[in-house]
Amino acid sequence: MDGFRYLDGVASLRLADAACIGCGMCEEVCPHGIFAVAEGKARILDRDACMECGACAMNCPTKAISVNPGVGCAAAILAGWLSGSKPSCGCQ
Ligand code: SF4
Ligand code: SF4
Repeated sequence: MDGFRYLDGVASLRLADAACIGCGMCEEVCPHGIFAVAEGKARILDRDACMECGACAMNCPTKAISVNPGVGCAAAILAGWLSGSKPSCGCQ
């Protein structure tokens, strides 16, 4: 899915800087390379490339990341991509 993007400004991904301990797990698990960790803190490089899979939030030990996984258009596009069918989330 490299290079696969959805609409700008709609991803629900959020990062609470204060809670981050810089463990690097988010950087390791994200299939889209959204995070970079430097000087003990994670940074979001490209929020609009997030497909809301939820892997980062699920693996963050301090719950510094929040994202609504498996909802809305991003989930529909993912499902369509995986099944080879036309994505449909019900909106236009
Ligand atoms: S997984 Fe959580 S604590 Fe670890 S670097 Fe990422 S945001 Fe920070
Ligand atoms: S929800 Fe998935 S795609 Fe988005 S930042 Fe987290 S791991 Fe990466």
